[in-house]
Amino acid sequence: MEKEITTNPGSGKSPVQVRTSTKVVAVTRGGTGGGVQVSSTASGAGSSVTENFDRIIVTSPLQTAASFMQLTPQETKWFSQIKTVRYLVTLAEPPVSGRNSPAGAFFTQNMVPSRANHAVALGVQNRQFGAATQRSLRTFYQILDDAITTAAATEILKQDALELTGVPLGEIKAQRNWEGDSAYFPHLSSVRMRSERERRERERLTRE
Ligand SMILES: Cc1cc2nc3c(=O)[nH]c(=O)nc-3n(C[C@H](O)[C@H](O)[C@H](O)COP(=O)(O)OP(=O)(O)OC[C@H]3O[C@@H](n4cnc5c(N)ncnc54)[C@H](O)[C@@H]3O)c2cc1C
Repeated sequence: MEKEITTNPGSGKSPVQVRTSTKVVAVTRGGTGGGVQVSSTASGAGSSVTENFDRIIVTSPLQTAASFMQLTPQETKWFSQIKTVRYLVTLAEPPVSGRNSPAGAFFTQNMVPSRANHAVALGVQNRQFGAATQRSLRTFYQILDDAITTAAATEILKQDALELTGVPLGEIKAQRNWEGDSAYFPHLSSVRMRSERERRERERLTRE
């Protein structure tokens, strides 16, 4: 779907064209005049459309960029080292409403590697239905290690909910495990970043 968005009304700048539900299927660099060719397919459309741009900014997860564009050796080296974090998000309705409960909490004691798989944060939404019926929905967040299953992490969450809030987890309404291509917090390790910084510094000193 194509939309036009005016980012800065009155500035005289052309509106930005935005395409939603459209997948970039191929990016080719070094086309005619040194530009970039982008092929994309709108949802439901059978064929792709190819357009030329001077430059593009890639904002999809970089660890998947190789699926639609040829990477330089440098890009291959760096993108293949991107790490992500498994993040389990559980929406549950507790057996008792939390009329006076806080809107959320961070469990900083669990934000260390030795406490992986335990709840690190909680969001609470209280809803009033009619005069008397108060319902709470709680969202718990857990950072998981590589090995644990969702079922085992859910058992840990049941204990954490009771211990940390005094109220059982209750009925699970929805659960999403952010992993794989949509995993949380893509990053390079600090060791990698430091070694690259040192390598560049050595190169700079050699040149001088
Ligand atoms: C459960 C959870 C809780 C979070 N909580 C917080 C928080 O409290 N505070 C905070 O600051 N951050 C939070 N984050 C992180 C935050 O959501 C991300 O940092 C942010 O969404 C990254 O934005 P982005 O635009 O870089 O990437 P994304 O939001 O990942 O967007 C990338 C987009 O690229 C699209 N895409 C991929 N491939 C293609 C293709 N071939 N063609 C076209 N489109 C493509 C994807 O569909 C996606 O829409 C949370 C993340 C998760 C998962």
